[in-house]
Amino acid sequence: PSVFTHEFNTPAFKGKVSFSTGLFINGQFVDGSDNTTIDVINPTNGKVVTSVSEATPKDVDIAVEAAQKAFDTVWGLNAPGATRSTLMGKLATLMQENADELAALEALDNGKTFNFARNADIAGSIDCIRYYAGWADKVTGQVLETTEAKLTYTRHEPIGVVGQIIPWNFPLLMMSWKLGPALACGNTIVLKPSEFTPLTAIKMCHLMNEAGFPPGVINVLTGYGGTTGHAISSHMKIEKVAFTGSTLVGRKIMESAAKSNLKNVTLELGGKSPNIIFDDADLEQAVNWAAFGIFYNHGQTCCAGSRIFVQEGIYDEFLKRFTEKTRSIKVGDPFAPETFQGPQVSEIQFNRIMSYIESGKQAGAKVEVGGERQGTEGYFIQPTVFTNVDPSMKIVQEEIFGPVGVVIKFKDEDDVIKQANDTVYGLAAAVFTQNLNRAINTAHRLKAGTAWVNCVNSLNANVPFGGFKQSGIGRELGEYALHNYTSVKAVHVNLGHKM
Ligand code: NAD
Repeated sequence: PSVFTHEFNTPAFKGKVSFSTGLFINGQFVDGSDNTTIDVINPTNGKVVTSVSEATPKDVDIAVEAAQKAFDTVWGLNAPGATRSTLMGKLATLMQENADELAALEALDNGKTFNFARNADIAGSIDCIRYYAGWADKVTGQVLETTEAKLTYTRHEPIGVVGQIIPWNFPLLMMSWKLGPALACGNTIVLKPSEFTPLTAIKMCHLMNEAGFPPGVINVLTGYGGTTGHAISSHMKIEKVAFTGSTLVGRKIMESAAKSNLKNVTLELGGKSPNIIFDDADLEQAVNWAAFGIFYNHGQTCCAGSRIFVQEGIYDEFLKRFTEKTRSIKVGDPFAPETFQGPQVSEIQFNRIMSYIESGKQAGAKVEVGGERQGTEGYFIQPTVFTNVDPSMKIVQEEIFGPVGVVIKFKDEDDVIKQANDTVYGLAAAVFTQNLNRAINTAHRLKAGTAWVNCVNSLNANVPFGGFKQSGIGRELGEYALHNYTSVKAVHVNLGHKM
């Protein structure tokens, strides 16, 4: 396998980073069986940073075999929870020690700012692994009272080899959300990062070896979705697949699970989240949060508040302040300390977003601010706000996954609930008001897996996250995520009942 070397010389991070790449199977870095590679592109300038091995379906078979062997010998029921917990704790400590390097890799590979990577992605990833390290020795079944002639109890057994497929928008964070509960419950893993952002996943493999995880417990295969991802979701010896990504691919994952071995499926998919601002909201705060809601991570956030509903009494004032705020967003080099927004992750995403902007213009929506590419190099897009939209427009219905929001006027509570729920998605929603009753009533009436009151994008490792409707199946984070990774066995012990 080749070695990735990069000399960072940025205000945020300086130093040489070097590690071997390759598929991580059975604790070792190996080339793909076809010896093919995938170019890793720096979205700030469109140039190739390095290339990483491409896994083939044959490599998936090899990784599954290694994972099965580890499950049967050194992990699963063969590793007490306390042992798993200790290793996960060590991994979290190593992530902490390497936090700056991980953040720099994320900024280079994804284009997100170093500061957000360091303070949100990496910090959140460490929290998540630590949180689940705490669970590893607390996953237990129940004793169920039936009759005095019987002892009945449940065991929460690990499932076995699980497959995990993740996207590029929060590479390390999504990896951590997946690894945490799966490891805590004693499963072994075959994980595929996004072909667009493999670097932090590979760095993590080095840290997992350093932490002392036995070979085969975690296997990481860099590869494309249609081949490597498909081989995972349709594998006959993988009993569970967890996927985060688009709703389109989520459907394919379910389909391949159904057509292969009916593996258990959890899905975290897209969204078109409403952000509702009532007349009585703290306007300055609402403006700031609304901008953070849609423009954070360049709009590449599954729970982005991309539909901003504003009550008629404050609509004009809100719009004035919101467009000013949007205009003030600093777009540029992800490593510059003042940058809020870097480039979109890839040329494909860049083109996709620009075509949504074009479709909004064509359909007669008004561009209040932005609406164009920024600069001539890299995949930068101006933060964009549309008004004068109607519910039939693509920019109102479809997930753009870029820095593009629509602002819509509403009359009253009933009106906005109806509009806000008029979507196939149901990932998150937010409401801004100083009226407690209205806040809670609205939060309860919104069809979404997360409802924020007077904030957005707020997440904690111990609080579940996931979607209603076509935003997904199952929950990640918190105790809830553990349910995805155990098989419940009921044991009935006869204490003397004679036939
Ligand atoms: P994507 O669906 O294109 O890809 C996600 C992953 O699936 C990648 O690793 C990809 O290689 C793989 N893949 C693609 N085709 C596949 C196939 N046929 N079989 C198996 N795997 C396949 O999504 P993306 O563009 O990487 O990410 C953006 C999407 O992810 C957005 O829709 C976003 O809303 C969603 N997302 C959701 C959450 C959440 O928690 N709900 C979090 C982050 C991102």
